[in-house]
Amino acid sequence: ATPLKVCIVGSGNWGSAVARIVGRNVQLLQRFAPMVKMWVKEEHVDCRKLTDIINTEHENIKYLPGYKLPENVVAVPQLLEAAGGADLLVFVVPHQFIQKLCDDLSGCVSSNALGISLIKGIDEGPGGLQLISDVIRHKLGIDVSVLMGPNIANEVAADEFCESTIGSRVVENGLLFKQLLQTPNFRIKVVDDTDTVELCGALKNIVAVGAGFCDGLQCGDNTKAAVIRLGLMEMIAFAKLFSNKVSISTDTFLESCGVADLIATCYAGRNRRVAEAFTKTGKSIVDLETEMLNGQKLQGPATSAQVFHILQQRGLLSKFPLFTAVYQICFQGRPVSELVSCLQIHPEYR
Ligand code: NAD
Ligand code: 13P
Repeated sequence: ATPLKVCIVGSGNWGSAVARIVGRNVQLLQRFAPMVKMWVKEEHVDCRKLTDIINTEHENIKYLPGYKLPENVVAVPQLLEAAGGADLLVFVVPHQFIQKLCDDLSGCVSSNALGISLIKGIDEGPGGLQLISDVIRHKLGIDVSVLMGPNIANEVAADEFCESTIGSRVVENGLLFKQLLQTPNFRIKVVDDTDTVELCGALKNIVAVGAGFCDGLQCGDNTKAAVIRLGLMEMIAFAKLFSNKVSISTDTFLESCGVADLIATCYAGRNRRVAEAFTKTGKSIVDLETEMLNGQKLQGPATSAQVFHILQQRGLLSKFPLFTAVYQICFQGRPVSELVSCLQIHPEYR
């Protein structure tokens, strides 16, 4: 069989860490073509094109400094040239950019191609919630799996042991992506409850913002644990209400994509860090994102806004006090000091 050509659509912090894995794996497995194209949104860093820097120094010095990329990973600035001929597409851009990116790719991707989304976020369609994988499915007409887990990019780049979950509607497609992405220190389990896997990855970012508020308020560990658990209960309740499937399995929350990613992000993620700084400085989320992240993007605050809107339309805000408080604190000037009083009235205690 002809080796499968892989394109990584995105090259931020996580995209670059994943490129290290994919670049190495395709050299080990004959099933995959040995060259990997990585779409890089062109920009200038130190007066040089980022694609030139990546292709000569084999390092994404802006988004994943300190870690070399395999030389068979080639940075390509034109989206259609990068993704056009690919058999396997790994989508890994911040979620707010996926609609435009799929519009640009529409009609240019082979109908036999397969996709996997590593993107943690949601979108809003005319009928309310739309999963990022659904955006890709509908716009490109391809099967899309998802990969979610506690995978802080720099730790994965450092080859520290961790786990992840692939959700796939077609299990053999999930297993193919597992071959592409698994390493001895990046262990993957494939499950079929795809929507829940994806919702876990998106919703835990809202909880992580709440955990960051706790840290900023210098709450104790009991309080932070309560925020994490109440957040988990809201994640489950939200998934039950909004999943495309008739019934979801709460077991999925025990996979790596569930509780484990929630914990990692509430202790070590960017959402947590920026939310802590928000509490301590009073600066806006947008300003802190620019100041603290050097071009990397936050997913939690934007996801809280989308979730707030979806819940408000359905008259469900009172069932989701943590999600609601995170949005109101980030964007509506509600004082962070009210976080705890928002939780005292949680439906969990009725
Ligand atoms: P990032 O936060 O590093 O964002 C920077 C990237 O966004 C750059 O490649 C930049 O070129 C790109 N970008 C900026 N403007 C753009 C535009 N208009 N259109 C397209 N791209 C644009 O990105 P990341 O860390 O790779 O995150 C991608 C996804 O992966 C997110 O959904 C995130 O939640 C998820 N994720 C991240 C991590 C992590 O530790 N970083 C881990 C797991 C999952
Ligand atoms: P942050 O975006 O908060 O850094 O979380 C990264 C992540 O998803 C780790 O699994």
